[in-house]
Amino acid sequence: MADTTLENLLSEERVFPPSPEFVAAANAGPEIYDESADWEAWWMKQALERITWFEEPTVGLNAENAPFYKWFEDGKLNLSYNCLDRHLDTIGDKVAYHWVGEPGDTRDITYAELHAEVSKFANALKSLGVEKGDRVAVYMGMIPELPITLLACARIGAIHSVVFGGFSSDSLADRIQDGEAKVLVTQDGSWRKGGVFPLKEHADVSVAACPTIEKVVVVERTKNEVSMTDGRDLWWHDLMADQAADCEPEVMDAEDILYILYTSGTTGKPKGIVHTQGGYLAGVMATHDLVFDIKDDDIFWCTADIGWVTGHSYIVYGPLANGVTGVMYEGAPDSPGFDRLWQIVDDYKVTIFYTAPTAIRAFMKWGDEYPAMHDLSSLRLLGTVGEPINPEAWMWYNEHIGYGECPIVDTWWQTETGAIMITPLPGAVATKPGSATFPFPGIGATAVDEDGNDVGVPGGGFLAITRPWPSMLRTIWGDDQRYVDTYWSRFDGKYFPGDGVKRDDEGYFWMLGRVDDIMLIAGHNISTTEVESALVSHPAVAEAAVVGRADPVTGQAIAAFVTVRGGVTGDDALLKELRDHVAETIGPIAKPKSIVFTADLPKTRSGKIMRRLLKDISEQRQLGDVTTLANADIVATIAAESAASADD
Ligand code: ATP
Ligand code: MG
Repeated sequence: MADTTLENLLSEERVFPPSPEFVAAANAGPEIYDESADWEAWWMKQALERITWFEEPTVGLNAENAPFYKWFEDGKLNLSYNCLDRHLDTIGDKVAYHWVGEPGDTRDITYAELHAEVSKFANALKSLGVEKGDRVAVYMGMIPELPITLLACARIGAIHSVVFGGFSSDSLADRIQDGEAKVLVTQDGSWRKGGVFPLKEHADVSVAACPTIEKVVVVERTKNEVSMTDGRDLWWHDLMADQAADCEPEVMDAEDILYILYTSGTTGKPKGIVHTQGGYLAGVMATHDLVFDIKDDDIFWCTADIGWVTGHSYIVYGPLANGVTGVMYEGAPDSPGFDRLWQIVDDYKVTIFYTAPTAIRAFMKWGDEYPAMHDLSSLRLLGTVGEPINPEAWMWYNEHIGYGECPIVDTWWQTETGAIMITPLPGAVATKPGSATFPFPGIGATAVDEDGNDVGVPGGGFLAITRPWPSMLRTIWGDDQRYVDTYWSRFDGKYFPGDGVKRDDEGYFWMLGRVDDIMLIAGHNISTTEVESALVSHPAVAEAAVVGRADPVTGQAIAAFVTVRGGVTGDDALLKELRDHVAETIGPIAKPKSIVFTADLPKTRSGKIMRRLLKDISEQRQLGDVTTLANADIVATIAAESAASADD
């Protein structure tokens, strides 16, 4: 940003306090913010109370070698033990996962059953020569064997590196090579919209370029034909057939590595983010319990893929360690029909539902009639993660999914942070549509200017995390220097996540997307989020992305890319109407100079809009890296549409 502050264009006046009944039963009340003022002590308390340690830690934070912080370093534990063994006497028969396959098959797995499967696969991994500290790459769909694999790794102290099961062979090979994995766990194929995505076939191409891989374990799921290499490839069911169902959990140091996970790649080459054991578990357990207000009888459904950090933290480790029943769904949200998710909510009486803004905008585009086909009254709390949520999408979610009665927690965090960082606590904070509200207890965050000075309230600037936290990344795999440069060099002693933020006069945090995306229009810093939200607030618009493209007069000009809702035509009349709408809603300075109507927007495989590619298109540049895109074809289409539509 050239200037130090951000324009404040969008102002949202609606406030939603939780109901008195919700407040009365909530796990966290407003006093928690005071209680956590001594943040180090508060985190220590979380770690001691929530985790079952083999040896309790006596130190909280060790900041001697900052920014290589350590937490609870003299503690010893095992995460698989915390997620499974310690529950067996009390909730062994409770369902850990209601699993739903895309074709309609289902499986309920209790904690006791999960414990047995995990122990068997842990023994299987050992039989393949996997030892503590070895890396196991995982390239799977959303089937029960995926969390089983993760927990089996955790049980024996192997480091898992999950690669999202929609990535190409090249992306998989890059990540295997970077982590030097010894074993790959995959499946014959995964179901996607009634078709088979041939995971094993892709994996074969990857493994050919990965000499470190010694064994490939293959789960049979879709029964498509695969080729098995003798001596290297093994079927999961053969390998599991005679494994013992008990396996002593390895005693791990709190600071031993639990996993590597690559960021989703919105800004370029993915980074191998390293998470450790004790601090990570304390972070995911505390956030899962307090943000989602977890009760014993909740049915918790996080719709993310376990290939992303959201799935690691809130499908696997947080919920299992907290002993909750979760739902896990294998397939696409529109398969076989646009009401699939709502059918599942109704079938399992889901009480807590956590999804992404990109999914909510898709639900809106598909139409209100699909959620209306089912009874969603079991829901009591909703959440979002992944991108800023436009107030319009928030309101739709509130009305059509929450029936106006569920608090919504908009949770800001990153692969790097391991756990939720900025979020409402649903019984303690009145929400505002589009605001992630306040830092989680124990977390320090603020908006700063270019020199790292707090901009105060109200004000806008760079988001900075002002102190270390237990679930933070420890480094980038194999690249300590990049860790220091990327996150700790911009502001002295503060973590720089790369996002912009605005705080309103009550101190609420409004996340504004990546600072790289912020536009400089005639000397004003304008966030893409606010202009996009203004566009999405028009009834004809389903989704919008804006970028600042070079302009000889204003420095940058706003170029908008708009997807219209079903039944609407993107013509010149609508174009004019949208430009006027933005000018009216947030001011003439934010009026897009050009608008291109397009069927879709370029997105990462986790569903995030990739603005840097739209910028390349607008400035008619050679396109940047597209390997992390879910829909690479759309880029060429948009480029053609963009060239055909003239500015005024
Ligand atoms: P890369 O770092 O490789 O470019 P990425 O940042 O998209 O990829 P993730 O770690 O999955 O990978 O995403 C974290 C980012 O997502 C945050 O930095 C932020 O920009 C955005 N984000 C997540 N949750 C929210 C939220 N509730 N509100 C606003 N933005 C969010
Ligand atoms: Mg990122």
